[in-house]
Amino acid sequence: MSYQVDEKGYYGDFGGAYIPEMLYPNVEELRTTYLDIINEPSFKEEFHQLLKDYVGRPSPLYYANRLSEKHNTKVYLKREDLNHTGAHKVNNTIGQILVAKKLGKNRIIAETGAGQHGVATATVCALMGIECIVYMGEIDIKRQAPNVARMKMLGAEVRPAKSGSKTLKDATNEAIRDWINNPVDTHYIIGSAIGPHPYPDMVTRFQSIISEEIKWQLKEKEGRENPDYVVACIGGGSNAAGTYYHFLDQPDVGIIAVEAAGKGVNSGESAATSQLGKEGIIHGCKTLLMQTTDGQITEPYSISAGLDYPGVGPLHSHLYKTARGEFFSVTDNDAMTAGLELSQLEGIIPAIESSHALAVFNDKKFKPEDVVVISLSGRGDKDLDTYIDYFKL
Ligand SMILES: *Cc1c(COP(=O)(O)O)cnc(C)c1O
Repeated sequence: MSYQVDEKGYYGDFGGAYIPEMLYPNVEELRTTYLDIINEPSFKEEFHQLLKDYVGRPSPLYYANRLSEKHNTKVYLKREDLNHTGAHKVNNTIGQILVAKKLGKNRIIAETGAGQHGVATATVCALMGIECIVYMGEIDIKRQAPNVARMKMLGAEVRPAKSGSKTLKDATNEAIRDWINNPVDTHYIIGSAIGPHPYPDMVTRFQSIISEEIKWQLKEKEGRENPDYVVACIGGGSNAAGTYYHFLDQPDVGIIAVEAAGKGVNSGESAATSQLGKEGIIHGCKTLLMQTTDGQITEPYSISAGLDYPGVGPLHSHLYKTARGEFFSVTDNDAMTAGLELSQLEGIIPAIESSHALAVFNDKKFKPEDVVVISLSGRGDKDLDTYIDYFKL
């Protein structure tokens, strides 16, 4: 069984590039060049230098003493929350802006829902002095005002998507339309392990720095590279893909994925894609997605904006279908409780996305000697208003 993408861009039954004819030249340019570019020594050197000096990597692997005691197992947190901009997303945008430069592109477009990927993209565009246009649903622009302000402060132009439900899906359509019209000078930075091939693989490789570091950090702390489990939350699946990557072919490492169950898997308000989803096509790839019987994509729901997505990346659909990964879904309430627990046991306020991963202890019993590494994908500053409302702080 292989968990690497094949020549055609598939992970088992999932993946591929289902794109309009007009987009073919753009995606083909990327497909035929991305591996050569990212394996070039000069690329690697610049990527790692920026991860070190700009992002602040390596991110610590922190042994969470009180959390471990509480759940009677050995818990390590991979601290992506300490990265510049507060989450893992910047690992990918740094990689992609360098690819764009190698391809001679001088204009970047992106789509964003909650604004986190928009901010990570605007950040690297400012760093490189490259024009940045972020498409965002009109409703999301109103809901996510602080991130809109951040993008503007960083010099990006935020263009509202005014069609359809005026959210992420519509912003994506606008971005694709823009790319079709600007095939020569523009690179489209996708923010998760989704999209047409080669995006899921490219994003996964950039995020794989997470598991690369876990291996040597754990060797230092535990005398072995492989933990017993790696745990991550899944929106589109990029922090998870990066956390799993170097362990995919190591059968002694259990892979655990945590999705957002919203108000309950069967409540009609959730984002538990693997449980509820069926094979379909979204954002240019074949994967599991939540849809009606006649194939209309269902509106997802989660208290956490980053997990509020109706699909999962094709790698994760493959991990689910082959049972290489164990999938759990966590409700809003359980995630919020786990976020409060981490804050008060360890003095770390997590992003609500990461709080879903931290709620894994409700569903899974670990042994006292198990080493469990949880991806703390982001910090909770952006979610303070939601925590305040929820806990009446
Ligand atoms: C965007 C985001 C996620 C979800 O995205 P993935 O691609 O699934 O990793 C998770 N955590 C944080 C903090 C995020 O900003």
